Amino acid sequence: MDIPILAQAHIAIAGETTRFPVRRIFCVGQNYADHAREMGSDPDRQAPFFFTKPADAAVPGGTFPFPTRTQDLHHEVELVVALGDGGADIAPDKALALTFGHAVGLDLTRRDLQAEAKKAGRPWDMAKGFDRSAPIAPLTRGAPPADAAIALAIDGAPRQQGRLADMIWKVEEIIAILSTFVELKAGDLIFTGTPSGVGPIRPGETVVGTIEGLPPVEVRFE
Ligand code: MN
Repeated sequence: MDIPILAQAHIAIAGETTRFPVRRIFCVGQNYADHAREMGSDPDRQAPFFFTKPADAAVPGGTFPFPTRTQDLHHEVELVVALGDGGADIAPDKALALTFGHAVGLDLTRRDLQAEAKKAGRPWDMAKGFDRSAPIAPLTRGAPPADAAIALAIDGAPRQQGRLADMIWKVEEIIAILSTFVELKAGDLIFTGTPSGVGPIRPGETVVGTIEGLPPVEVRFE
């Protein structure tokens, strides 16, 4: 048996039929002080840490089956940055010029599995990198704004509210530091962290993530 070369994961670009190919998905942990505190961490400017999700975890909004192996599926609304070019050891002042676009996305988390993994000193992969764990709204071309309101609501009730300006590590710093760990390339996506207010999503609820000025992302689990 031969297996055909697999199709590349891809996401939408707002107002265009062109698609953005997804190469890898990187995520920054605890990048807003109030969220670091609610997770029991010290929000001092410790070096950022990263984890990943599979490229095909990126999906548009929609209605999905409730993820398996969790009783505590959490929402984390985040600014997602899409790279149009890359490099290694990128200087912060060159980083924003490498961005292709930006969007609002959800870093969906099986919080119960993450808590078990943290306790046992085990990897987060099964807590963070499951199927459809990275819903992303259509990308808007250009570098992300330094500040905008970011929020998430469930069935219309506000759950997360913050400002992009409150990120501990700015987008250009995240790109620069991440590029010392891996050589970044076009197609890479970076989830830049979530403000406080993370919490559970239950079947049947409608979850809407927003960043002022961008198309929203909306998901529902059956
Ligand atoms: Mn996150």
